[in-house]
Amino acid sequence: MTSNYDIEAIRAQFPALKRNIGESPLVYLDNTATSQTPACVLDAIMDGYTMRKANVHRGVHTLSQEATDAQEAARRRVQTFIGADSHEEIIFTRGTTEAINLVAASYSSMLEKGDEIIVTVMEHHSDIVPWQLAAERYGLVLRAVPLRPGSSELDLDAYAAMLGSRTRVAAFTAVSNVLGTANPVRRMVDMAHAAGAVALVDAAQAVAHERVNVHAWDADFIAFSSHKMYGPTGVGVLYGRRELLERMPPYQGGGEMIAHVDIERSTWAELPFKFEAGTPDFVGIAALHKAIDWMEATGIDLIAAHEQRLLIRAEKAMRAMPGMRIFGDAPGKCAIISFLMGDDASSYDIGMLLDGMGIAVRTGHHCAQPLMNALGVTGVARASFAAYNTEAEVDAFIAALQRIHKILRL
Ligand code: PMP
Repeated sequence: MTSNYDIEAIRAQFPALKRNIGESPLVYLDNTATSQTPACVLDAIMDGYTMRKANVHRGVHTLSQEATDAQEAARRRVQTFIGADSHEEIIFTRGTTEAINLVAASYSSMLEKGDEIIVTVMEHHSDIVPWQLAAERYGLVLRAVPLRPGSSELDLDAYAAMLGSRTRVAAFTAVSNVLGTANPVRRMVDMAHAAGAVALVDAAQAVAHERVNVHAWDADFIAFSSHKMYGPTGVGVLYGRRELLERMPPYQGGGEMIAHVDIERSTWAELPFKFEAGTPDFVGIAALHKAIDWMEATGIDLIAAHEQRLLIRAEKAMRAMPGMRIFGDAPGKCAIISFLMGDDASSYDIGMLLDGMGIAVRTGHHCAQPLMNALGVTGVARASFAAYNTEAEVDAFIAALQRIHKILRL
């Protein structure tokens, strides 16, 4: 370990890590699904509900003003975190899923029948199904970039061939939640722009493991979820390029998003509020502010380097195990290991047996059924690492897999 990465001090900030599962200490390796939450974020949630639970942007009273200030400070914190030009380009949503639905519903309504949307075969369902709904509604054509045969990487030649005069949107993930593959985001964005399309990047798996910067990617839309970046659930972010957000119609109607309402018609609020109908999760949003502070104070680069060390240690031991199949071998992949020992069905057994030893992993299709089809499986088990995991936990995981190997007689 590097001297400036004090893993014990980091762990001490996560109350959940003190839990036991049965007789065993919790080894939490389901970080791709959601990460645990440090005390500073939990304190912010408690403080929000205890001291300033009042609706934002509506009251003149002190509590409401404090809640509003906390929410708008969080918006500016997200803005600087991802290097956006304006806080008006930061829309708070319920998560990545809602952020993508917002764009798929609103941006697609400005498209014409026969226009094309490109996604990829490695997308989470939340970056496929919203586009299917939009395609059905507006007569759009949805196409998916495949993997290069025998590879964990996208086939960029196929992507280049798909981009054409009817392409309007390219929507793809920065990092696969199954393979760990880190896609060449800037290159893919540039290719979309060269074809005259806008690019949406699903940053759900990137944002806690690398520095995400609006200008480095040059993306038109970026979506991510607070709960995967040590923050609370129920909050997400959509970054959108201002000129696009200004042209796009509202996604949902209600309070907060209007300038004026008559029974016959209404006018819309300025950005970002045009896209924030109803009472937002202002407590969660203020707590996300603390999660970003926490990640930056800990050091995103240090966290990523730590996770990579754990990845290398685990994969080396796993590859030495007979019958082990690891899915995802792209160079520079994120700290995610999807695997099978035996057939697909055994991924559930592996998950159950690991849970019996206190080790939390995810099993199943991981909301990526098209990718499962491409890999020729119905599900996989997945271990993934975060800032607080240790080498001792990796070793406990490997020892548990060796026991399971014997139990299942693989
Ligand atoms: N995209 C990716 C790549 C993901 O991993 C996930 C969550 N597993 C999502 C989108 C959806 O995120 P949420 O459920 O927080 O909206």
